[in-house]
Amino acid sequence: MTEKQPPRYRAIRLWQPKISNGSTVRSAPVRRIGTLLAALALATVPALSHAMEEPAPDAATLTEITDDDWSTTAVLESGDTLAGLLASFGVSHREVHAAVEAMDGIFSPRRLRAGQEISLMLEPADGDGQRLLGLKMRPNVEQDVEVRFDGDGYVAQAIPRQLFPSLNAVDGEINRSLFADASALEIPPATLAAMIRAFSFDVDFQRELQPGDRFALLYETLHEHDGQLAKPGDLLYAELILSGKPIGIYRFTPESGFTDYFTADGRSVRKSLLRTPIDGARISSGYGMRRHPILGYSKMHRGVDFAAPTGTPIYAAGNGVVEKARRNGGYGKYVRIRHNGTYKTAYAHLSRYGRGIKAGARVKQGQVIGYVGSTGRSTGPHLHYEVISNGKQVNPRSIKLPAGERLKGADLKAFQEARERIDALRERHRPQSTIVAVRQR
Ligand SMILES: [Zn+2]
Repeated sequence: MTEKQPPRYRAIRLWQPKISNGSTVRSAPVRRIGTLLAALALATVPALSHAMEEPAPDAATLTEITDDDWSTTAVLESGDTLAGLLASFGVSHREVHAAVEAMDGIFSPRRLRAGQEISLMLEPADGDGQRLLGLKMRPNVEQDVEVRFDGDGYVAQAIPRQLFPSLNAVDGEINRSLFADASALEIPPATLAAMIRAFSFDVDFQRELQPGDRFALLYETLHEHDGQLAKPGDLLYAELILSGKPIGIYRFTPESGFTDYFTADGRSVRKSLLRTPIDGARISSGYGMRRHPILGYSKMHRGVDFAAPTGTPIYAAGNGVVEKARRNGGYGKYVRIRHNGTYKTAYAHLSRYGRGIKAGARVKQGQVIGYVGSTGRSTGPHLHYEVISNGKQVNPRSIKLPAGERLKGADLKAFQEARERIDALRERHRPQSTIVAVRQR
């Protein structure tokens, strides 16, 4: 949960203020970044240049190979492994093994996905085999991974790629749909999704948005040196003005390490617990007395059952720490999360656990903690979900969810500073002129 400290902004390719249909204005994102950001950028320069002076290991041997030698480009297909792909080019088992081993601790080839391009440097070997002299790939926009034969063996390195952050301010009006209007402003889908997620505790996006409502965003994007968008960055601020009523929320990371969005007065937008920790499921058995389907007698059902196919992801109902992630009698595979001094939630009959879910792991609301199954005493795939309040199971539907947590003390103070910084950025990035839409009726 490391949080990037003040993002480095650097003025790079700028798009010009763009006016679409006269209804929305996009401000020029970076050019007007003032001294505040310049100071931030300067502050980080020494560390940055130091990192870049660091000589690459075995640079001398590695540079003997010129780029022209990368003659072969392979594409990893679904189900392929890197080792399998290399073997298919006639590379000996021994070399494949050594090259993959060289990557140990640098990059795990298991993280490669279908469609990954890999450049290979090969040389004919005895028989119909080929010798592997090098391979390189860009598994993600942030790094290149290279493995080269240096005469004795293989040397792997991960080369961080420099991306250039840019700050973007947009202000738009909802005319068609939030999605269509945001897309027209080139807001990256992931940024829009982050906004919707942050507001979804308070706003019903299916029903509450009306033509004429407005939205504003301040967000980062990361660019290649030529200005191409490499990936969306953080959403720093989002605002919705619904029926004239503005709600603005700010991104902030309190000491707990969980980044979240907060209203101007420091209240988390996040309600403490999700009532339904699973998508698209139906309640197959509610909380209360019922006849037990396996044991046959009437019994209090101290949870809610959600019917869903095996393998359906189950989300952590709230931020917290995993207390248990193991088999637990009739519950089968079972996860319990402690959210705070009052609430815990439990999830039973899982087919398997989510990645990294074990006792002591911190989880974030919405993180996948496991998958629906039918382990333990269960008649078919479903999630048995319990909310435990002060040690007792309670009906998740009846609990009154506390409003978002309010920041206090040092967190509140740090938030207020962060908010002022964001507000100052918004001020600098305010569209130069706001063109009022003239809608034809
Ligand atoms: Zn149940």
